[in-house]
Formats: sequence, C-alpha cells, structure tokens
Amino acid sequence: MSRPLVARIRLDAFCHNYRVAKEAHGGQALAVVKANAYGHGAVQCAQALADEADGFAVASIEEALILREAGITAPILLLEGFFEASELPEIQAQDLWVVIHQPWQVDALMAMQLSRPITVWLKMDSGMHRVGIAPDQYRATYERLKGHPLIAQIVLMSHFARADETTSPHPLQQVDIFRAATAGISAPVSLSNSAAVLGWSGARTDWARPGIMLYGADPFVGQRDATGAPLGERLRPVMQLEGAVISVRTIACGEPVGYGGTFVAERPTRVGVVSCGYADGYPRTAPTGTPVAVDGQLTRLIGRVSMDMLTVDLTDLPQADLGSRVELWGDQVPVNEVASRVGTIAYELLCNVKRARFVYSGTSH
Ligand SMILES: *Cc1c(COP(=O)(O)O)cnc(C)c1O
Repeated sequence: MSRPLVARIRLDAFCHNYRVAKEAHGGQALAVVKANAYGHGAVQCAQALADEADGFAVASIEEALILREAGITAPILLLEGFFEASELPEIQAQDLWVVIHQPWQVDALMAMQLSRPITVWLKMDSGMHRVGIAPDQYRATYERLKGHPLIAQIVLMSHFARADETTSPHPLQQVDIFRAATAGISAPVSLSNSAAVLGWSGARTDWARPGIMLYGADPFVGQRDATGAPLGERLRPVMQLEGAVISVRTIACGEPVGYGGTFVAERPTRVGVVSCGYADGYPRTAPTGTPVAVDGQLTRLIGRVSMDMLTVDLTDLPQADLGSRVELWGDQVPVNEVASRVGTIAYELLCNVKRARFVYSGTSH
C-alpha cells in the first residue's frame, strides 16, 4: 500500500510530441531533458526516445552523466557548457557537445589538450542579454575556434527572450541581429525553442531545441493561429498528476475549510480531501476555484492547499466518494490552466513535482 499520489508519465505522448516538433520545424531536433526532463524523469524520457532522437540537451555535466550511465549514446549538448575548465576531460571522455557562451570558456577550450574532436555550439547574445557572445565579437570568436584542428563542428546558436509572444517584434529582431552577425559563415544554425518551433516559421534553422512542448504543454498558453486553432493543438499532455479522495464530509452553510478558513461554505458543501499538497509540488497559492477533475468530472479546489492535502468541492458530484481518482493536471485539467491561476508557467509546476510515485507507460522499455 502506498499514499495515493501518482505521476503517470506517458512516454508514447512524449515521443509523439517530439515528432510534432520535428515535423513543425524540419531539420534535426535536440530533445531538451534538463532538470530531470522538466520533472518527468530524464532517464525514462531519453530511453523512450533513444532510437529516434537526433540528440538531447541538458543543463550540466551531472545531468549528462546520468544519461550516459543509463546507456544513452546519442549526442548530448550541455546548454551552459562547462562551469569550470576542470570538467573538460570528462566532457571529452563522455563525448559531450558543449555550448560556449562566454570568452573565458573559449580560452579554456583553446588551452586544453584535446584528446578527440569536440563539437561546439557557439551561442550569441542576440538580445536576451543573459548569456552569449556579443554580436560584434561573434565572428572573431568563431574564427578563433575554427582555427583549432580538434574543434570538429561549430553550430551557430542563439536563444529567444520572447518567442512565446505571438505579436512581439522582438524574436524577428533577434533573428535579424543573428543573421547580420553570421552573414557569410557556412555552419549549421540553431535558434528555436518550443515557442519558436510552433509559432515562428521565420526562425527555422538546422537544429531545433524543443523542451516544454515535448511534455505536452502549449508554450503559447492557448493563443491561436490565423485559422483559430491553438498553436499547441497537436501536443499531448505527458504527465497526469493523480491523487485520490481520502476523506469526505459535509459542512453546513457558514462553516470554513482548512488553514485560515479562507473558504466559507455558501451552501451545505460536501468536501473531499485529496492526497496531494504543496510538498508534492502542487502550488500552495492555488486559489479556490482552480479546476480539478474527480472521476473525470470537473470541479474546483476550495480553501487553502496544505502540505500533504488539499480540499475539493464534491457537492455536485454525489457519486464521488472515498477512493475517487482526482486529476490535479493532465488530460482534463491542462497544467497551463493551473499555472495561470497562480501566476506561473507550466514549466515550474512540472519541474516541482516530487514525492509522487512515478508510473511510466507507453513504451517497450
Ligand atoms: C531550456 C532551453 C530550451 C528549451 O526551451 P523550451 O521553452 O522549454 O522549449 C532551448 N534552448 C535553451 C538554450 C534552453 O536553455
């Protein structure tokens, strides 16, 4: 027996979403599985895609080593490169690809006694102003790296700050800056995250870097294309976060529920207690009214989310009872919907899931 809180991960949906990304973008695609695959389990996700992914991307060598130890032989890109030059021997030994985004990394790489050819993704700061080589330094940096006999391939790379805003001119300004600074350089290019894959055909290049869309969350949060269809229409949610009703009571009109008594019944109210709380990653700030689905029917969260439990309104669901299945997010309750209620994004909610039992389906592995 165990506490009834399960994160069901559908690996077939993950693979489907990867194919959607590749089809929408063309060319090749690195599946971004950093932060334990946005909370879904990096090893399971990467293994499910091992036969078809062009490569994977992670945030650090620690994340890459977990995949290598699990038998992933595909290319793995370190999205922030190395944090210390001392990582370079292991990067070489494990045959990892590195992003180079600041001058000291170039110096460290050039000074290193390379043992085998290495692939570098040279990142430009085309307007996000977080990391990347400045556009006016970019060509000289590229030439310097290109002069090294063991730098096997250089992919030209940049990242968008506002690709999830369909009406912002900023992404195309970034593309213009990138194109001007790389004019005449003949090398593969990678610009697009999920939002650019789905929404910015002007940013299509050799390599896409889809992340959130692989997990089935629409990066445009329901924004629509010219035909009125949601941009992320073809994506399938990968995670179903499911708790169960572990207690039921009916309270009288005027009675409060939970810490702080923030919800007060306006009619006799049947309250269901669910086995999920903020220690599991469900946001404590979710207000009364946030949708949940009980045995397939939509109802609402009521009162304050506590550490191990939350409370839902079962008044109009007389058939719901002890043991009823409660979807916190998944097919019926989009994780984007919960995120927007609490002023965050699906990325953060998915990454935060913990303590749940992870159950994988949809693959032969
Ligand atoms: C995380 C990340 C991505 C993936 O972004 P999504 O919005 O999740 O698609 C792509 N590129 C870089 C550099 C990243 O850090």
